Amino acid sequence: MSKPALHDNPFYHIPDLPAFDRMRPEQAEPALRALLAEAAAAVEKLEQTHEPTWDGLVDPLSRACEPLFDAWGVLSHLLGVMNSDGWRQAHDALQPDVVTFSLRVSQSPLFYRNVLALRDADRAMPTLTGPRRRILASLIRGAKQAGVGLEGEARARFNAIQQELAGLGTAFSNALLDAIKGYTLWVTDPRDTAGWPTPLLAAAAEAARQAGKPQATADAGPWRITLDDATAVPFLKHGRNRALRETLYRASVTKASSGACDNTARVERILALRREMAGLLGYASYAELSLSRKTAPSVAAVDRFSSSLADAAREPARREQDELLAFACAQGFAETALAPWDMAFWAERQREARFAYSEEELRAYFPFPRVLDGLFALAARLFDVHIEADDGAVPVWHPDVRFFRVRDADGTLLASFYLDPYCRPETKRGGAWMDAFHTRDRRPDGSLQLPLAVLVCNQTLPSEGRPSLMRFDEVTTLFHEFGHALQHMLTVVEDSGASGINNIEWDAVEVASQFMENWCYDRATLRGLSHHIETGAPLPDTLFQKLVAAKNYRAAAALLRQLFFGVTDMDLHARYPQPKWTDANAVKCDAAARLLPQPLLPEDRLLCGFAHLFAGGYAAGYYGYKWSEVLSADAFAAFEEAGLDQQAGVRATGRRYRDTLLALGGGTPPLDVFHAFRGRAPSINALLRHAGLENGVRH
Ligand SMILES: [Zn+2]
Repeated sequence: MSKPALHDNPFYHIPDLPAFDRMRPEQAEPALRALLAEAAAAVEKLEQTHEPTWDGLVDPLSRACEPLFDAWGVLSHLLGVMNSDGWRQAHDALQPDVVTFSLRVSQSPLFYRNVLALRDADRAMPTLTGPRRRILASLIRGAKQAGVGLEGEARARFNAIQQELAGLGTAFSNALLDAIKGYTLWVTDPRDTAGWPTPLLAAAAEAARQAGKPQATADAGPWRITLDDATAVPFLKHGRNRALRETLYRASVTKASSGACDNTARVERILALRREMAGLLGYASYAELSLSRKTAPSVAAVDRFSSSLADAAREPARREQDELLAFACAQGFAETALAPWDMAFWAERQREARFAYSEEELRAYFPFPRVLDGLFALAARLFDVHIEADDGAVPVWHPDVRFFRVRDADGTLLASFYLDPYCRPETKRGGAWMDAFHTRDRRPDGSLQLPLAVLVCNQTLPSEGRPSLMRFDEVTTLFHEFGHALQHMLTVVEDSGASGINNIEWDAVEVASQFMENWCYDRATLRGLSHHIETGAPLPDTLFQKLVAAKNYRAAAALLRQLFFGVTDMDLHARYPQPKWTDANAVKCDAAARLLPQPLLPEDRLLCGFAHLFAGGYAAGYYGYKWSEVLSADAFAAFEEAGLDQQAGVRATGRRYRDTLLALGGGTPPLDVFHAFRGRAPSINALLRHAGLENGVRH
């Protein structure tokens, strides 16, 4: 049998719109092997012929690598959203060679020497634009941190560490997915569904049908609860059977910590390898290496930031905790303390009592199609961009995936994006994220490549003839990811190395995303988003007022939880190991004792499922969410100052926001971008005000 020709292979030189519908795991390896060989040959040729100029070196080098990295990006995406043994095998087979190739380029002494020469020439007589200068600085730092300065044994060891880390990250992610996939809590007795809201009954029956129980119905069961947020979150909030809540909670906090999916050893190994790598590069810790690429000046500055917020939140959090226990006891709770599996349940009861609405009542107002319309109307109102659905026009990887085009006010096409909205616990990573297949890029022939982004969420499925009814936190998550996508798509930078979200410091990348979440609490926006599934009515003002009043309900506890994640991360990457900590889990316990109002279970194994740190880009960077929120809250405050219901002011501020925060990408330092928008440096006051903590902070 002859080998299938490469020109038919959808991974080989991926076109502007990837042929997702034709991609099969067995095609990935032959295509990427050919692309690896082509890229290696092009790089080698360039090493001989290049000159130390932008057009002679930096630009052709990035173009030489592009077809390979495009295909690798698509393969990694498919592993995340359509996980299967086939995609895993293809990914695992190729990963070592892709890592080797990347290191070979970054470690090339010829390229490095010439990049330095280009920088020095530009210093002597400036010719480069600001964005190009920033790309160059990143290239130089990237080469140093990829070991260009290492020789002999140190280089060999560094490269071995890179390979092992890449493999461990993939293995961590796969084990976590398997652990989630491998767990089911079956509920078969209808009495155990007492208190369940209709959408949870429907989602749990849908999950059961997908797991091979075609007879399952919302009314009669059986019902299947998984560790995926779509069923686990409402189950913990509404399930009256305390023993079942305990079972699910314990499974959730110990996931991927035993048996075939155990990530415990991977966590320790990843941390040890990161420390060793940082040491080889001359950094005192992995955190210092990580911060050298971020806006935060030092570990000490991050520590100060976290502890000042924690100090502001600790007392209010203790009060929240006492009030919750008192409330539960008044309702007949017979114990002396709330167990972890009681927290979400009683907090939801207290919210209902205090603000007289339930989250489930709220979700009837948020059918997914209406939320999308409202979100796109907001984008038009703020930024004068117009988003139209173009489903069916392009190939997708799953029938649920939507496709949209983004146009400027004059009709010019600016970008496109996919949206993969629903949870698929069997094959899709948990959480939500934005990724990019293409970035805005002026090619040598003068043509312009437009951004192509993808938003991935894990929201509640449509069920029994009704559209997906979104929980409010699913709505804010969609806004968040859309904010990332806007920043990627509305860039005006035309050098791919700094356009869109490329080259933005990781602790500033959550500004554009978190900014969008604020609009979920704006009355006009919310009216546009909401449409009761039965009556068609928009969210009534009374319910809106309650939602706003409830916004800061248990805000101190939520803030402390975020800080706990960030502090654990920083302790692990800046200070671990130390004699006082027996293992990485002990670092987490220590941070929990300092920050959380309630102790964790002794068997809690949070780190085994903490993909942000061990299979994502947030190592020694989790603090970036709060760090970015200083800027995102202050940016939103500019709209509040303009008057949220003042159309002209909102438009003008939106235009300025688009022209700065959304346009300048990674080509300008984030604080300069912020200054250009706000006319001043960021202030933490808006964050504290939005969180209701302004009276609690020490100055
Ligand atoms: Zn984000």
